[in-house]
Amino acid sequence: MNSKNFAAVKGMNDLLPPSIESWQFIEKAAREIFGNYGYQEIRTPILEDTALFVRSVGEGTDIVGKEMYTFTDRGDRSLTLRPEGTAPAARAYIENNITNKEPVTRWFYMGPMFRYERMKTGRYRQFYQIGAEAYGALDPAQDVETIALVDVFLKRIGVPDVMLRLNSLGEQSTRPAYLQALRDYFAPQAASLSPEAAATLERNPMRLLDSKEPALQPLIAGAPAIVDFIDEASKAHFAEVQRLLTKLGIAFVLDRTLVRGLDYYSRTTFEFVYQPATGENALGTAGTVCGGGRYDGLVKDLGGPEKPAVGFAMGLDRLVLLVEAAGARKPSRPTLFIGTFDGPMRDEAFVLVTKLRNAGYAVDFDPRGGKMKRQIERAIKVGARFFGAYGDAEHTSGKLGLKNLDLPDATDNKVEVAVDALPTWLRETAASG
Ligand code: AMP
Repeated sequence: MNSKNFAAVKGMNDLLPPSIESWQFIEKAAREIFGNYGYQEIRTPILEDTALFVRSVGEGTDIVGKEMYTFTDRGDRSLTLRPEGTAPAARAYIENNITNKEPVTRWFYMGPMFRYERMKTGRYRQFYQIGAEAYGALDPAQDVETIALVDVFLKRIGVPDVMLRLNSLGEQSTRPAYLQALRDYFAPQAASLSPEAAATLERNPMRLLDSKEPALQPLIAGAPAIVDFIDEASKAHFAEVQRLLTKLGIAFVLDRTLVRGLDYYSRTTFEFVYQPATGENALGTAGTVCGGGRYDGLVKDLGGPEKPAVGFAMGLDRLVLLVEAAGARKPSRPTLFIGTFDGPMRDEAFVLVTKLRNAGYAVDFDPRGGKMKRQIERAIKVGARFFGAYGDAEHTSGKLGLKNLDLPDATDNKVEVAVDALPTWLRETAASG
């Protein structure tokens, strides 16, 4: 048989220990905090009808134009690995008739998304998002609630130096006038644009504002801003969003160029961007950790009733990089590692380890047994806090001598604990660690 070394698909990463603990830490914090805000978790399929994304995200966008993983299944259906979570959530919201069951629905999701993108630090082809969607409320308080949720969440997981950037896109109905203004503005420069930028101008001029091409930046800076084209109701809404943010003590900057890369947004759009004042940027140029906004037309566009909605998605991969760069998280460790002796006492030690584990304590041992020196080395390797051997003497006396592996040998680093008292000792020791 031929042997072949397999590798993960380009842009798709294995998430392994110890880093997986940062993922779990962030996911756990999300479940807690989102729950406090009244958001309930949903899980939708990874695959959706391709048309769902074409219809919602928009034909002229990068995602639909060149980033989707689309294939035909054995039943001749065109399916797509979801590139984002808002359209699937809206599909589920409509299909399950939630629209009629309650006036306001607040959902969150977390899971993998797929985009065929150019890779760099913080940008992958399979990446993970934590997102939230709130349906049913047109009030600015709903926009601000979602922003407050992201704000507190980022603070709680210890992500520093994040700035909230805010803009309003107004109603979809004011979009054509703005697009025309953009075309008029860029048209005289068309000859000097790169082929890619020229194509974007042709396809979807708003996307040009997202371009990272250095040569384009001065031109983008002087472009007409959508916020100057929005309707009166959207202006009032935007003012109210800003007032409420100030009331809640959430700092923000207005960003007239913030249009976001998906078509379904209307009115409020926002991003949380990582911008360390000094030192290295752990995200390189992929600084946006969260993007969101209102999309009042989406539910109707997808065949549902008229339902306003607002939501966001955070990039979990990027949050992990930032949490790890902040270095505040300690890896979890076994509280106790039990050394075993060959012979009948191995079984007794195994029974003890299992009992303690089943009672809820992090206790480890080496299933291979062997030399005690090697077992101690193993205990140190897995980060155990205490080590104790369990053999004839311990079995007879009912007591275990435990060595604190965090303290050097020359110090008073031993404690004696009765086997019966181990659960209490483990509970107190774990709590003190
Ligand atoms: P978007 O759905 O494009 O608004 O993205 C929302 C957030 O998801 C971004 O702010 C990023 O943090 C994250 N994100 C988007 N695309 C990627 C990617 N290819 N790799 C990693 N994170 C991503």
